[in-house]
Amino acid sequence: MTIDDGRDEGCVAPPGLSSTEVVAAADGEIDEQARAHLQECPHCAARVQQMRQIQSRLRRQLYRLFCPKTDLLVDYCQGLLDPYQRTVITHHLATCPCCAGEVALMESGQRHAPSSPTRCRTRRRP
Ligand SMILES: [Zn+2]
Ligand SMILES: [Zn+2]
Repeated sequence: MTIDDGRDEGCVAPPGLSSTEVVAAADGEIDEQARAHLQECPHCAARVQQMRQIQSRLRRQLYRLFCPKTDLLVDYCQGLLDPYQRTVITHHLATCPCCAGEVALMESGQRHAPSSPTRCRTRRRP
């Protein structure tokens, strides 16, 4: 399957967007001309929509392929990793919005829920 299939077929103002333009539009990098065309043309707008879905699916798969396990991220948040692992995770977080978001979520969760089991384990009895 290519995104160029039926490029001009169904387009209200041929030529329709090229595949490069569709990709750019899906990324939100779009020029005035293409933007105007997309407003006029449901056909090309649908192709952009389709491309956006393909991209987000691909991105998720790519990220997840190289992502550390959630356990590791939890340990990272709690500072339980050795320096080497920590460096690896830090580096990964810099490149992976997916895991960075997860860690941010965990950290805010820890802050807002002091009674979570992770805290209990480290809390000393008086
Ligand atoms: Zn069109
Ligand atoms: Zn990741």
